[in-house]
Order: sequence, then C-alpha cells, then structure tokens
Amino acid sequence: MTNGARVFPVTSSIYRGAKAAMATMHGKEAAIAPAMEAHLGLEIVTPAGLDTDILGTFSGEIPRIGTMLEVAVRKARIGMRATGLGVGIASEGSFGPHPVVPFLRAGMELMVLVDDERSLIISESFVTDQTNHDVAVVVDVSELGEFLARVMFPSHALVVGPNQTDSPWWRLHPQLKVIRKGIRAHGELADAVSYATRRSEDGRARVMTDMRAHMNPTRMQSITDLAALLAQRVATECPHCRAPGFGRFAVSSGIPCISCGEESIIPRGELWRCAVCNYACEEVKLPKLEFAQPADCPRCNA
Ligand SMILES: [Zn+2]
Ligand SMILES: [Zn+2]
Repeated sequence: MTNGARVFPVTSSIYRGAKAAMATMHGKEAAIAPAMEAHLGLEIVTPAGLDTDILGTFSGEIPRIGTMLEVAVRKARIGMRATGLGVGIASEGSFGPHPVVPFLRAGMELMVLVDDERSLIISESFVTDQTNHDVAVVVDVSELGEFLARVMFPSHALVVGPNQTDSPWWRLHPQLKVIRKGIRAHGELADAVSYATRRSEDGRARVMTDMRAHMNPTRMQSITDLAALLAQRVATECPHCRAPGFGRFAVSSGIPCISCGEESIIPRGELWRCAVCNYACEEVKLPKLEFAQPADCPRCNA
C-alpha cells in the first residue's frame, strides 16, 4: 500500500481562473468561496432558485439516500447541470453521538469537489465536537431554559414540531404535521411549542437545533474550516501522476508502547493517497516519537 517513506508534495492549482458551481439554499457559499478563491483561484457560481432539499433535510421530512459522499456528489452535479459548468462543489453534514466518545455530540462534515471534465472526485471530511446539535422534548416552553442556553438560542435557530405523529390518522392528514424552522425569537418559539404540543399525540413538542448553515453560526465556522482543508488538498499534486487532490486518507499504525511494546493508540503519522493513481505514502509526524506512554496503550491501560 505504501510506496514511499516521505514526500514533499508540490502545491499548485489547475483551477486558476476556472468556475465551479455550488447548489445551496443555505448561504454556504459565503463560507466556501473565500478559501477556493484564495488557495485555488477558483470562482464559485451559485445558480438561483435550486431546491437542494429534494436530496433530504436535517429535520427528516425528506430522508437522505446514500452515503454522505454520494449525496454530496449528487448535490454538486445538480449545480453543475443548472450552470453548465464541468466543476462543482457541495457540502454535507450529519450530527449525532461522537464516534469515539459517545456522550459527546459531534458533527461530521464532508465537502467534495467534482470535476467531470477530468473525472475527478476530491473530498475532505472531519468529525468535530464543535456543534450545538441537540434535541429536547417538552410539554411547555418553560422547560427549555437550560437547553436554550446550551444550544446558543437565539443566535442559533431552532426547529419545532409535534413529538408523536405516527398513528394512521396522521397518515391521512400529513398537511397537519407542521414543522416550523428557523425560529430565532422567544415569542415565536413559545407559539411554535404550544402549536406543536396541541398537534402531538402525546401532547409534547420536539425542539431541535436548526443545523442549516445560515441558521447556525457554529456550523458555518465548521464549513469555513473544511473549505480551507479541501482547497489545500485540491492544491496538492500527487508526486507520482501530478493529479490534484493528494492528501490524508488514514492515520498510520500506532507507535509502540514503552512498557510492553504493543501498538499504542498514538499514530506514527498519516497515510496520504492519490485519488487517481492510488499512489500512497506515509507522512511521519514531526517531532517523531519513538515510544508511547502506557496510558495510551490498550494492553497496559486495559
Ligand atoms: Zn497519482
Ligand atoms: Zn503497553
């Protein structure tokens, strides 16, 4: 898998002066365009009047189908079709328990550049604990005090709907299953909660953080950070075939434990791979550590 020990990737941009389409209804271009312009000289074009919610919504009225990468690639191509451009960018997020520390909330963000002229799909992603993602189920708005502080309301918007609407009666009256989004004022929140409790079979309202970028400054920052990472990856050439998009795809094996010699959880470095020719190499982190402490050893710390 690893063809070389260490490389010094060349940074350049084949996209200088080019345009990329971006289909978004949630103002994400404000977070993405500056990095693409600065690192790649790539201009972002946003077609007007596109409905990316047909690919699924956070509030769950329309389920998303496929992996995050598949959804992002489809979304990028919607923008490309609408503008007639051969290059597109899209981003996707998903939120829930942290994959490593389950009691923490985490956001998984993924961004992709699709270049159908060169048959390239270059993606970058990360998991962050910097998210306000949360849900509360309440009978009355007065129960929300601590929750509202935690989710940073009203600078971060909320989504409110009935908690329980699965009986056959609801299937016959789907138009009454109202979800209100983008709530950013206390009066509006109180109205929405009272409305939702009256329409829920259990008399409870479900209050969720609005994860759409333009309603959630914390998420907008994550997308800004990810755009810089994606732009840097696109600007990095494969040392073997010179295709853009050379970068990290995994961490390498752990350095040995100083006490027992088993593999620790401290990775020796990163594995970098080319998305086109599969050339891979290991980037060793500097300063290089010889051994890990027993606290970072699954065997000693069991
Ligand atoms: Zn390559
Ligand atoms: Zn050990």
